Amino acid sequence: MAKVDRVLEMIAEKDIRLLDLKFVDVLGMLHHLTVPVEVVDAEQLSQGFFFDGSSIRGFRGIAESDMILRPDPATVVCDPFVEGPALSLMADVLEPGLREYGRDPRGVARRAEEYLRQTGIADTSYWGVEIEFFVFDNVRFQTGPDASFYYVDSAEAHWNSGRVPNGGYKVKHQQGYLRALPIDEQTDLRTAMTRQMQALGLVVERHHHEVASAGQNEINFRFSTLTDTADKAMLYKYAVKNVARAHGKTATFMPKPLYRNSGNGMHCNQSLAKDGVNLFYDPNGYANLSQIALWYIGGLLTHADALLAITNPTTNSYKRLVPGYEAPTNLAFSRANRSAAIRIPVSLSPKTTRIEFRTPDPTANPYLALAAQLMAGLDGIRRRIDPTAAGFGPVDIDIYHHAGSAAVQLKHVPSSLRQAVEALKADHEFLLEGDVFSEDLIETFIALKEDEIRNLETHPHPVEFEMYFDN
Ligand code: GLU
Repeated sequence: MAKVDRVLEMIAEKDIRLLDLKFVDVLGMLHHLTVPVEVVDAEQLSQGFFFDGSSIRGFRGIAESDMILRPDPATVVCDPFVEGPALSLMADVLEPGLREYGRDPRGVARRAEEYLRQTGIADTSYWGVEIEFFVFDNVRFQTGPDASFYYVDSAEAHWNSGRVPNGGYKVKHQQGYLRALPIDEQTDLRTAMTRQMQALGLVVERHHHEVASAGQNEINFRFSTLTDTADKAMLYKYAVKNVARAHGKTATFMPKPLYRNSGNGMHCNQSLAKDGVNLFYDPNGYANLSQIALWYIGGLLTHADALLAITNPTTNSYKRLVPGYEAPTNLAFSRANRSAAIRIPVSLSPKTTRIEFRTPDPTANPYLALAAQLMAGLDGIRRRIDPTAAGFGPVDIDIYHHAGSAAVQLKHVPSSLRQAVEALKADHEFLLEGDVFSEDLIETFIALKEDEIRNLETHPHPVEFEMYFDN
């Protein structure tokens, strides 16, 4: 109750008019329900608010639509985008009677943390996610009688982000990384995003222009525990999209919006701790990694094909996982190699030793993606999967430039969402441990993904027109 009281205190102190309750659907889309404070009291805050779950993709059918949003008082912040003043709270989705709802992604994340404690292996997992995005000036929405789609004016995007008519200062192809002003014309935009992220409770550590030719950005926020990091990933995207819109631009987290340009990753740095000690650190191990860390890597890579259906869940995701763009293509681990699925970043102290799973992208539902990675890693620890014996490296030669050579025989990431979804069908027992994921959620997720695959496969594609129109 104490934390609920804090929400009520904030309402009084800041003359708050509205509560903005945020929740996330199976596919990772953010939704909100706005409630005037006049009808809010301590009991309602603890019991939650009814809403109709039937129209949320992947949630319940029309016959049984009553659902409850129970705000998590630990997540309370002021919402800079909702005119109010308004408080924002992340909410758990529950069934009547306040029963856990198996398809609530935030519930999956909470249960994954609980399951970790139950295993006794560790008490806490730490996550640092690096989310990239593009900001475009010219994104058009084209509608037709039975099809509608967005497209980026890529000729313009290729040369600059479009606003400056003077062509003297242009980001050269794939040379945007850390470029200074005036080339990096989105510096102030990222700063504006940073301010709003700070208002939403993120500790922002840095921001910069990314590699791609135009308007690719990254803002880094501080690592935290699993559910908290997933909450913050949602608020990060919320801030990016809203600030871009306020400036007349459009942000996208699509993994590969531009052909022949870098894509958007969501690299996931992770480690396990027990009693405040980092279990991944051993000064005598490969890249200062402990045996537990190596088994965890073994689990991630062994389950990678299935895992990618959740961490790289769109048809577009697999257009990013191609050679030549610092996106991972190989199921391997490595000290420095950026085309390996797992990189061990240089760490300056035992506390910061961690592994970086590089395949995920920001179209993933962060609650499901982080929970699924944890479950795969824990399975590796439980089964003592040695990643070297399993053929995953370590690989310290430059696979970025030797990919495909006979000397380097590495397993590849799946090449399509269909492949990953088929793998998930065959391999998801590790997600069901401790009832973290339910069979029902996996089935729902797979059905949604199969719809997306069919949707793309049955649409005439612009590239088909280019290749075949004149045949
Ligand atoms: N944009 C790259 C990706 O798709 C990552 C670039 C980097 O390593 O900073 O994962």
